[in-house]
Amino acid sequence: MENVIIIGTGCAGWTAAIYTGRANLKPLVISGEQPGGQLTTTTEVENFPGFPEGVMGPELMMRMQQQAEKFGTRVEYDLVSRIAKQEDGSILVKTNGGTEHRAHTVIIATGASPRYLGLPGEMGMVGRGVTSCATCDGAFYPDVPVAVIGGGDSACEEATFLTRFASKVYLVHRREELRASKIMADRALANPKVEPVWNSEVKEYLTDEQGDVRAILVHNRVTGEDSEVAVKCVFVAIGHDPNTAFLAGSGVSLDEDGYVVQDGHSTHSNIAGIFSAGDVSDHVYRQAITAAGNGCQAALDAERYIAALEG
Ligand code: NAP
Repeated sequence: MENVIIIGTGCAGWTAAIYTGRANLKPLVISGEQPGGQLTTTTEVENFPGFPEGVMGPELMMRMQQQAEKFGTRVEYDLVSRIAKQEDGSILVKTNGGTEHRAHTVIIATGASPRYLGLPGEMGMVGRGVTSCATCDGAFYPDVPVAVIGGGDSACEEATFLTRFASKVYLVHRREELRASKIMADRALANPKVEPVWNSEVKEYLTDEQGDVRAILVHNRVTGEDSEVAVKCVFVAIGHDPNTAFLAGSGVSLDEDGYVVQDGHSTHSNIAGIFSAGDVSDHVYRQAITAAGNGCQAALDAERYIAALEG
């Protein structure tokens, strides 16, 4: 029987592992689909405290893993397919690879994944002028027009950020009114480089001979017209989906958007012994440091739960 199984290897997962490792609980971490989580898709991280000169995202994650392993963390490179609370109070964890574990506690730290539009061939275009991360890729498109898709805070924040590099930023939104908070919307729309494209949906990514994006085909939902907008990169900012599909049938409470619901001020889920941490429960802050902090909280909550079982 494991003391604690941590599912996910982003900032939340590794921080939970460092804390439970130092508490001598010998955590088992199951890596997930994208070991290292979302920060492995970024370049420089400039807002993680302690790195005044900045740190590369993949390096930060590698160092967190080393720190966790130094304190006795074991890592299994696999995907969890199912968890289930057992009658004896333990939690069964099954993986795609066919392993089965039982644990006193489980910390769900599986993060969230950016949404894409679902257009044919879209995932093959990622890295060829389609991306979900302005922070990561904005600097690769200096002095050229780009588009941001979406009307929320993320889209407005990314559009404003991209004006640092791009010659023009088309903000393509399917309605005539932004969902974003007023301050973020005003900031984006006040920028002379930002041009809103209202009531519009992207129908197709148009590519050049190399297969890189050269334009988007946009459908106006009011006039019914299609038009081409020449851009070198499309930043899709239509929200994130928490990685919680494997929790179907587990009884763990999810909110209407699929995020794991934490119990009040703790990281407890509705099921005793199952905790969550990071972006899988947080659609508001979604920062590396907030995920790390929440991973620490989940570790402390799990330690207390185990101590109470033993006591
Ligand atoms: P969001 O608020 O859910 O907005 C998603 C946007 O994408 C909406 O405008 C939506 O259109 C559009 N959209 C969704 N699916 C689409 C599709 N298939 N095709 C075209 N458009 C689509 O997501 P978010 O902007 O990522 O924000 C998520 C949360 O993080 C929010 O609570 C936000 O306040 C917070 N956040 C805060 C900050 C900050 O304060 N610095 C920054 C970023 C995010 P509709 O409007 O028509 O639904």
